[in-house]
Amino acid sequence: MIIAIDGASGTGKSTISKLVAKELDLSYIDTGAIYRSVAFAVKKDAIDLNDEQALKVLCSSLPIKFEFIDGVNKVFLGELDISEAIRTPEMSMLASKVSALPIVRSSLLEMQRRLAKTTSKKGAILDGRDIGTVVFPDAEAKIFLTASDATRAKRRYEELVSKGITVDYDTILKETIARDKQDSQRTLAPLKKASDAVHIDTDGLNIEQVKEKILKIVKERT
Ligand code: C5P
Repeated sequence: MIIAIDGASGTGKSTISKLVAKELDLSYIDTGAIYRSVAFAVKKDAIDLNDEQALKVLCSSLPIKFEFIDGVNKVFLGELDISEAIRTPEMSMLASKVSALPIVRSSLLEMQRRLAKTTSKKGAILDGRDIGTVVFPDAEAKIFLTASDATRAKRRYEELVSKGITVDYDTILKETIARDKQDSQRTLAPLKKASDAVHIDTDGLNIEQVKEKILKIVKERT
C-alpha cells in the first residue's frame, strides 16, 4: 500500500505522516529529507549547480540512510548524522533550488520508488510535493494538504525555535512564501494537487483531527 501526502511547507505533512505510518504500520519516507541531503552534500562538496555530471554522480550514489532511533527519525549521510543540519532555513532554500534541476529529479525518482517498495512493512507513506503526481501516480490514497501562509510560517517558526535555531518570524514568513512559489512554479514536477487527491485544508484543525480525516480516507480507498 502506498499513501501519498503532498503539500507546501508547514502544512503539517511530516508530523501527520509519521502518526499515520505508526497507526497503520507503514514505513514513513520523508522525500523532502532526500532533497535536503542533496543540498547538504552540494554545499559540503562545493558542487557547482551547473555541473550536471557531478550532480548525477552525487545523486546516484547518495549514501542516505533513514533510521528510527529512540523514537526519533534520523537522517544519515554515510556515517554523518545530518538530521538537524538539513533543517536550517539555508538548507530549505538550497533544497528547493536543487530540486528544480532535471538531473536531480530524475536521479532521485528511482531511489524514492525503491525505498518505498523495499520496505519490510505493509507499505509506505511518502510525503513531498510530487508524490501523487509523479513518484506514485497509482498510489492507493492521495492527500493534498494546504494551510494559510500565516499558519504555515507559524508552524515552521515554532519547529525551528523548538530545535534551538534562532530565527525571526517575518523572515520565516517571507522565506516560506518564496520557497513555495519556487516549488509551485518550477517546470518539472511542481507542487500541485493530483486530480484524484483529496484536499484537506488544515487551518483550524489540530493534528489529531487531520490524522483522523486521513485514516478515514485511507480506509475508504484500500
Ligand atoms: O518537505 P521539505 O520542506 O523538507 O522539502 C524541502 C524541499 O525539497 C522543498 O522545498 C522542495 O523544493 C523539495 N521537494 C521536492 N519534491 C518532494 C519533496 C521535497 O521538490 N517530493
